[in-house]
Parts: sequence; structure tokens; C-alpha cells
Amino acid sequence: SAFAQERPTARLAGAPDIQPRTHASHKGSYGDVAVIGGASGMAGAALLAGSAALHAGAGRVFVGLLDPRAAPVDTSQPELMLRDAHALDLAGMTVVCGCGGGDAVRELLPRVLSTAAALVLDADALNAIAVDPSLQAQLVARGQAGAPTVLTPHPLEAARLLGDTTGGVQANRLAAARALASRFGVVTVLKGSGTVIADAGDEPPVINSTGNARLATAGTGDVLAGMIGAALAMRRPAFEAACEAVWQHGRIADLWPADAAPLTAGSLARRAPD
Ligand code: AMP
Ligand code: MG
Repeated sequence: SAFAQERPTARLAGAPDIQPRTHASHKGSYGDVAVIGGASGMAGAALLAGSAALHAGAGRVFVGLLDPRAAPVDTSQPELMLRDAHALDLAGMTVVCGCGGGDAVRELLPRVLSTAAALVLDADALNAIAVDPSLQAQLVARGQAGAPTVLTPHPLEAARLLGDTTGGVQANRLAAARALASRFGVVTVLKGSGTVIADAGDEPPVINSTGNARLATAGTGDVLAGMIGAALAMRRPAFEAACEAVWQHGRIADLWPADAAPLTAGSLARRAPD
């Protein structure tokens, strides 16, 4: 494939700066996150992303569910404001789109791509974009406008976007991440052991130094998307937001006590074993 001919170098990620919460701040200072996802049977993915955004410090978190029969509240996470995805006003919001979205997320993507102030695209949102040239054009337009945008594909999702195979992506992860970042003009997080974060410009990509196979469990990618969303809502530039959230996500797994129960996505979002 075309991108496999490149041989980019990479930087290693370091510890992120902790953002202080100043005395006179209020929830509006930390931004609004809106998660769009949770088609029928997959509400958990959207709730995990919302929980992660909340625990990462976002001011307010809305979860727009695509399942019309979804419950109106998650009583174990009453901070999350559950909405019908179709009725959620996205103006001024940092949107995390795709988590558990299924095919139903596709019809909302034109509005999400044109309206979101900042945007994380994951999972089924990426799969929908991979097969729809008009959505790809909208994504390129966001990149050209400098609208903060982060893609978070795992290797199969990256392969679909690139028209390649998972093997092709994994054989040259740096080049694959760079190819996506430059094709769409947005920050790209290629997940997996040694997550690669690539910016649209000429800077070499970053290889994250944290994380381990405890993360190889359902829902951890949704948690990462929510964490990046929180960083964007707190006005971190897109590349820094992605690097910092990926680093923190892996760091929580690295600090997981060896004698604790296995890491679950819910406990990762809450940043501690149950
Ligand atoms: P997803 O594939 O969307 O479920 O996301 C899985 C998340 O867990 C991503 O952030 C991956 O980078 C991370 N992850 C999965 N397996 C590993 C591993 N063996 N080492 C480090 N990170 C992993
Ligand atoms: Mg995923």
C-alpha cells in the first residue's frame, strides 16, 4: 500500500501536565461533553465513555443514546444526563461519537461533523465514515477549518479507513497513523499495544509509553474516547489532548494493583479497582 513506503521516526510520550482547577472556576470552566452512541443493546459503550469523561474532569456530560427505548437515567451514575441522541443540541459541545453506535449512528454524522465544537470519532462512527465519501469530505473540511478533531481507530477500524488489511496496518503502525492524520487533516490515535498518536502536520508521531494487556477487555476503547473528550472540553489542543489521555489511560492500567480483581472498563473509567 502507499503508506507502507514511508519510514517515519517517532517520539516517545512523557507524563502530561496536570491541569489545575483554579479557585474561582465553575463547571462551565471545564466544558460540556456530549457522547453520541448506544444503539440498541450497546448503551453500555456510551455510558462508559460518559463516565470516563466525567471522571477525567469534564464540567457536564450528556449521553445521547440512539436506542429509543433507553432508560432515562443511569441510577449508578446520576451525574450523567441521558438524552435521546436525535434531540441533543450539539452547538458548543465537545462530541464523542461512535461508542456502541451501530448502523444507527450514520444518520447523525452529517450534523455531528458540521456542528461539534470539538470531536472524537470512534468505533462505528469511523466504520460509517470509511464507506461514505460525503462523510469523508466533511471530515476533511473539519481538518481544513482547524476544528479540533481526533480519530481513535483500533487496527481493524484503521484498515477500513485506509482500504488496507489489519496486517498491513500492524506491519507499519507509524505510517498508518500518519497516513490517516494527513489524509483527513486531523489527529489520529492508532490504538493497541504501543498506541501511536499522529498529528496532521509534519511533526513525527508519538508512541505512547504506558498501558498493558489488562486493557485488552471490552469497553476500554470507549473509556479512552471519553477521556480524550474531557481533555478537549477543557480546551486542550487536540494533539496534546490525545497524547495526555492515552498516557493517563495506560498509566491507570500500569498502576493497577496486582492483587486486585482484573481491570474492567467501568473501573478504568472510575480510575480505581472496585
Ligand atoms: P478497543 O479496541 O476500541 O476496544 O480499545 C482497546 C483499548 O485498550 C485501546 O486503548 C488499546 O490501546 C488498549 N489495549 C488493548 N490491548 C492492549 C495491550 N495489549 N497493551 C496495551 N494497550 C492495549
Ligand atoms: Mg472500540
